[in-house]
Amino acid sequence: MTELRNIPFGRPMLGEEEKKAIDDVLDSGILAHGKRLEAFEAAFAGFTGAPHAVGVANCTAALHMVYVQLGIGPGDEVIVPAQTHTATAHAVELTGAWAVFVDAELETGNIAIDQIESLITPRTRAISVVHFLGMPVDMPRIMAIAEKHSLAVVEDCALAVGTRLDGKHAGLWGDAGCYSFYPVKHITTGEGGMVISKHQDLAEGIRKLRAFGMDKHVNERKVAGMYDIQGLGFNYRMNEISAAMGGEQMKKLPGFLEKRHENHENLKNTVKEIPGVLTFRDCKPGEEHSHYCFALLLSPELKPYRLKIKEYLKEKGVGTSIYYPNPVPRMQYYAEKYGYEPELFPAAEQVSDGSIALSVGPHLMSSDYQYVTDKVKEAIDCIACKVGPR
Ligand SMILES: *Cc1c(COP(=O)(O)O)cnc(C)c1O
Repeated sequence: MTELRNIPFGRPMLGEEEKKAIDDVLDSGILAHGKRLEAFEAAFAGFTGAPHAVGVANCTAALHMVYVQLGIGPGDEVIVPAQTHTATAHAVELTGAWAVFVDAELETGNIAIDQIESLITPRTRAISVVHFLGMPVDMPRIMAIAEKHSLAVVEDCALAVGTRLDGKHAGLWGDAGCYSFYPVKHITTGEGGMVISKHQDLAEGIRKLRAFGMDKHVNERKVAGMYDIQGLGFNYRMNEISAAMGGEQMKKLPGFLEKRHENHENLKNTVKEIPGVLTFRDCKPGEEHSHYCFALLLSPELKPYRLKIKEYLKEKGVGTSIYYPNPVPRMQYYAEKYGYEPELFPAAEQVSDGSIALSVGPHLMSSDYQYVTDKVKEAIDCIACKVGPR
């Protein structure tokens, strides 16, 4: 009998450093428009190599503002991956534009690039991609399609802190990259997000949009309280408490990523020996994965037992998740608006209905991968003994 462990899927890695930084903010009395956000933006720009980084309220807000800044709205179409977080599509919907969903490729979970061009119409304005679970999308191919048809490219990088392709960080290939600092992501600010971009005008536009569309930042005003509004904007700012956490998290990020890569490698090597369990493909040369989690892909025989396997793992203290529970166009809101045709999304369905996400987070102890592997094996054996030989 091995002792039961408790391994949650995600756990924010916060320590005395974050507490101290938050205390300093509280003591300073400056809770917004301060130096902490500037420092966090500079650190994030430094890590990614981005010429411009703008801290915002969350990733959904980041994506929404990018589309608004690109001038996308009613009558426009945007190519959207079906296998992603609903926020990738919501951001398009919120502008009044029409989402055109594209299936995934089974090897990586990323958008099926082969299918994009046939879906481009005279109304198409942009292609959005998500670096699925941190695996870089083949951006040179996306950029070639975008250039050919004069389309903008928006990268959902919520799970792609540390994702690079040919040395270039995710978010710097397209026109903008949007990040999330929700508690279970690579780093957290409680809630938070960041837009990075190679375009100065786009970044400056987002800086205005995040603060009501005001012409002058608080610190630029000659007369306190005086400003004008040049356009419609949001209140999508990041506060100083979140930014202070972010600054401390950035110092720890290289260590977090190292731990994720190590956990992923260990888990992959043991889990792939289990019959009936498949995984996404490994990185090719030039691809750097952020290893958000480890996705188990169950064989067709095991797929019907996914929830039973998850339940068994939960009983044994192994937290799991699902990325994502439905292809976005199968979610009720989208299915009612767009009409869902399952035959268009076989790969996205296979990932949604047949995968289990295991944690490779930095909170795992170095021997946890063996425990997790043993429990996955037991769960599958246990099903085999109940349903007979596979
Ligand atoms: C988490 C996530 C989001 C949403 O991020 P928020 O910061 O919670 O708005 C968007 N896209 C993807 C791919 C995500 O995983």
